[in-house]
Amino acid sequence: MEIDATALKSKGFFQQVQKDKFSLRLCTSGGTISTDYLKKAMEIADTYGVGQIHFTTRQQIEIPYIPAGKVDAVQQLLSAAKIKAFIGGPRVRTVVACLGAGVCKFGQIETGDLAQAIHDTYFGRELPAKLKIAITGCKNNCAKVEANDLGIRGVDHGYLLYFGGCFGHETRVGKPFLPVLKEKDKVLKVIEYTVNFFVSNATKGERLGKLIDRMGMDAFKEAIEGVV
Ligand code: SF4
Repeated sequence: MEIDATALKSKGFFQQVQKDKFSLRLCTSGGTISTDYLKKAMEIADTYGVGQIHFTTRQQIEIPYIPAGKVDAVQQLLSAAKIKAFIGGPRVRTVVACLGAGVCKFGQIETGDLAQAIHDTYFGRELPAKLKIAITGCKNNCAKVEANDLGIRGVDHGYLLYFGGCFGHETRVGKPFLPVLKEKDKVLKVIEYTVNFFVSNATKGERLGKLIDRMGMDAFKEAIEGVV
């Protein structure tokens, strides 16, 4: 049987070193899942994998060792359970978040609902390059927001936004330049503006930080400051 690894990747199945095996990435937002969701992941791992589940550094669930011939059965199970697979490539990626003020005593902002709101609006949106977003509840920065294209950090019960970070084969530190925003609506407006700015101006494969370098930080700052 010929395996179309590229097509399977677009459905969340990543070809392993063992070419007839695939590692399935599931989509989560904000790093919190229900126990029902976890039970379904366990069922897939036990039935079609080798009883292993891996947690990625961006809080996604990954189930390795699924045979190519079982991909259709797994997809049917995912569809029945209304579980989405991870989508990679040049898109808005899943939102990473710490537990935030709803649980953590250090938290300055609520993170879970914000992560879900961003995820529901933007996850999977086609872009010139990938765009990663992270939210962290306080200065302890458990979600490492500066390593993301867009980072949100809780400060004095408000939101400090970081722009242009990335972490991978290239690394750059995201920078804040706006004052701490006190309203969540303004944060969402800035995100909307930034995503639209990115779509309108970035070239293929150009991450937000590089776009800001090319267009000039002053121009980007001026545009964003106009939103808030
Ligand atoms: S970043 Fe702060 S609020 Fe979030 S989990 Fe870490 S200590 Fe808690």
